[in-house]
Amino acid sequence: MKTAVYPGSFDPVTLGHLDIIKRASAMFDEVIVAVMTNSTKSPLFTLDERVKMLKESVKDLPNVKIESFDGLLIDYCKQNQIHIIIRGLRAVTDFEYELQISQINRELSHHEVDTVFLTTSLEYSYLSSSVVKEIASYNGDITPCVSDFVGEELYKKYGYK
Ligand code: ADP
Repeated sequence: MKTAVYPGSFDPVTLGHLDIIKRASAMFDEVIVAVMTNSTKSPLFTLDERVKMLKESVKDLPNVKIESFDGLLIDYCKQNQIHIIIRGLRAVTDFEYELQISQINRELSHHEVDTVFLTTSLEYSYLSSSVVKEIASYNGDITPCVSDFVGEELYKKYGYK
């Protein structure tokens, strides 16, 4: 069975993330979305809230599982015998960072874990969780960016609902 892990902060999950999850779920037997605590970012949503929003978003994809992990991604892969990491690429600006991380992960795993990159669908290439949060914080329209469920949670966070 080919299992892949799609790691990220998902603060919150956007339609861009969901596009990658759907496409990956068609390529692998099982996709685990790992919600990570990123030490360099202070999240708007708690880990539990991010997991809940993801679970709601993928409920129609039977081979996708949502988990959370506090630690190094490569340790998660080792513990769960996963050899494939999925990452999304939006633009050239993502590339340098992603290349470095994928090479570090390959080294740390003694060449046992490879990263597979999926390029974003054009309609989501401008989307990031940060941009969505910024728009929502001013009560702007985020319907093209996130699912209705996630949109409601965002407006609630900023005190608009
Ligand atoms: P991180 O904090 O690890 O960068 P994110 O939650 O921001 O996590 O993103 C997780 C993954 O999803 C990354 O590989 C990122 O490049 C990718 N991603 C984010 N937004 C999009 C998008 N709009 N289209 C495709 N991939 C995306």
